[in-house]
Parts: sequence; C-alpha cells; structure tokens
Amino acid sequence: KKKIAVMTSGGDSPGMNGVVRAVVRMAIHMGCDAFCVYEGYEGLVRGGDLIKKMSWEDVRGYLSEGGTLIGTARCMAFYERPGRLTAAKNMVLNGIDALIICGGDGSLTGADRFRDEWPSLLEELVATKQLDEKQIAPYKHLNIVGLVGSIDNDLSGTDATIGAYSALARICEMVDYIEATASSHSRAFVIEVMGRHCGWLALMAGVATGADFIFIPEKPREDNWREEMCEIIKKHRGWGKRKTIVIIAEGAKDRHGGKITPEMLKDLLADKSGLALDTRITTLGHVQRGGTAVAYDRMLGTLQGVEAVKAVLEATPETETCFIAITENKIVRKPLMTAVKETQEVAKLIDAQDFAKAMSLRDTEFSD
Ligand code: ADP
Repeated sequence: KKKIAVMTSGGDSPGMNGVVRAVVRMAIHMGCDAFCVYEGYEGLVRGGDLIKKMSWEDVRGYLSEGGTLIGTARCMAFYERPGRLTAAKNMVLNGIDALIICGGDGSLTGADRFRDEWPSLLEELVATKQLDEKQIAPYKHLNIVGLVGSIDNDLSGTDATIGAYSALARICEMVDYIEATASSHSRAFVIEVMGRHCGWLALMAGVATGADFIFIPEKPREDNWREEMCEIIKKHRGWGKRKTIVIIAEGAKDRHGGKITPEMLKDLLADKSGLALDTRITTLGHVQRGGTAVAYDRMLGTLQGVEAVKAVLEATPETETCFIAITENKIVRKPLMTAVKETQEVAKLIDAQDFAKAMSLRDTEFSD
C-alpha cells in the first residue's frame, strides 16, 4: 500500500485546508494510506507526533476553515543538509513513498532540493548506520508533487495560486468599508496591501474597487508621479467624488528604485498648498491572509489536490518533478523547477529595475 503524505509550508493561504482534505481523501479513495506532516518542514525534521496517519473523518469540515489546520512554519534546519538528512530518515521510518507540498516558491525550492539530494541522503544514512540497506530498498526515489499556496499570486506558470482570490476578496471588502467612511468625511485613504515583488493584489483590487491611483512594483512610477497622481485626483474630485482611494503594494518603487511609501503619499495628498485632503493611511496587513477561502480557492485546492495524488500515482523514476497549475481554466501538471526559477528570476529583475525582461517571464499582464 502506497503511503502519501501532504504538508503545508511557508506563508499560510486560504484554501490550503481544501488541499489537505482533497489529498487525504483522494489518497484513501485510491487505496493508499494518507499522512499529514504537521508544521511544514519542521514536522519532517522533528518527526514523531508531527507525522500522522489520517482517516477520511480527520479532515471533515476542512473546506470552510481559514489558514492551515495542519500548521506551517519557517524551518531553518531544512535549509541545511543535516536537517534534510533527519527529514529523510523520518520519511523512511514512517514508510512515506510520496510527498505533496503546498507552499510558496521557497517551499517548492526546498522540495526540489530534497528530491535532488535524496539518493545521497539515503547513502549517508546507511554509511552512518542510521538505517540499513533493507530499510531503504523500497524508497530509492523520492516522489514529490508541488501545489502553489500563496496570497500574492506570484508564481510563474500558473494563472492563480491557491489563496490569491480569497485575499483579493478580503481587500475589496475592506476597501468598501473604508470607502463608506471616506466619503462621509470627504477623506482620502492610502491603503497598503501585500506584495513585495508582485503587484497582482494591488492591481486587481484597484480595478475591482475603482481606486483613484495605484502603485505596484512592476510599474515603477516616472519622475513626475507626484504631479500625475495629484492631477488625476483633482480631476476626480472636480467631478464631485467625495472619497479618494490610493492603493499601494508593499514593494512599490519609483523609476530609480526608490521606495514609495504610504507616508509619502499621505504627506502629498494632505499638503496644504496642494490638494489639502484630510488623509489617513490603512495598512491591511494580515487580514488579507486570514479568514475563510472564497469558493474559487476551495475549488482550486480541491481539484489540484486530486490531480496531485493522480500525478504521484502515475509518476515513474524518470518523471520530471511537477507542480499543479491552472492555465486557461485547466488543471495541468508542469515542471516544478522551471516555474520556481522563473519566479525567482522575476523577483531579481524587478529588484534590478529590469521590468521589460521581468514581465516577459510573468504570465499576468501588467500593460497600461
Ligand atoms: P514560501 O514557501 O512561502 O516561499 P519560505 O521561503 O519561507 O516560504 O520557505 C518555507 C520553508 O521552506 C523554509 O522555512 C525552509 O524550511 C524551506 N526552504 C525554503 N527555501 C529553501 C531552500 N533553498 N533549501 C531548503 N529549504 C528551503
């Protein structure tokens, strides 16, 4: 009987519970044993109670819960080989044949590294007499499948990451609340949303709420951004608008790589010699991550979880490690490392202000 384990890792995102539920139940449905690794890679390294066999009932009610019920963590030990060695030993001792990991690009990079090192980790475990040849014999290849859980929608190669639409819905809801009070007092609000290298949340929230102006890392503002913003807001006010909403992503920058902060925008909007608007800053912070998943993320987590188990069962030692994507509304398998490398490359290019190249690697359109 195959033993398939599922784990959530890195930053939590709504929809991860749907993934866990789907993997556990699909694995059982396919005649396998299902396991959960609690607390991300920390669970693999520490083993013991953190690796648990799951029954069909154990994941009951998971779909409507936010966060990740099996826990997640940033695990320093897994960055180092000795940590991964202990993780490999715990996998073999628990008889785990395959691992399905739902996390961001960091977690998926760790997974690929683990898979890559697997034969040498087993060798070392035998050489140091922690395990014997007979114990490792059935586990010569590590079967890994990735699922992308992230609110930022920042992974190359998939149209949506699990959790992004829930975070977007939450942001829109919050902006609606703010708008009511903004318009009552005729105020301006600068709303900061998450996204260091990826402005998807800010951009889509801007579109979905009809914001006056947005700032995202992928579209650095020209030198005249101050005048441009003030002019547009003045025009909107001139049309009788009683509220002003500016949405800024955490990673917003100007053309020279200088950070644009909510405080800078507030000072500008409130400037007595200019717009002189009564301006407040709202940093949405972790409300963007919390709460239950919207229907789309429940659906995405479920369909991708099912596909991940199928991928595990169909994999051969020659199969390239894959992750499950959604592309043009189809759930598909794609090479894991190509997507992770592209994602990391995009982040580097954005930091280096090479936007044209960065955007050519990214799927989301950020045209004007
Ligand atoms: P995310 O998965 O959300 O991008 P992190 O980058 O923090 O979050 O990664 C989550 C965990 O994955 C880390 O705490 C670490 O245990 C593991 N990890 C990340 N990158 C690597 C790596 N290059 N090598 C080994 N493990 C890694």
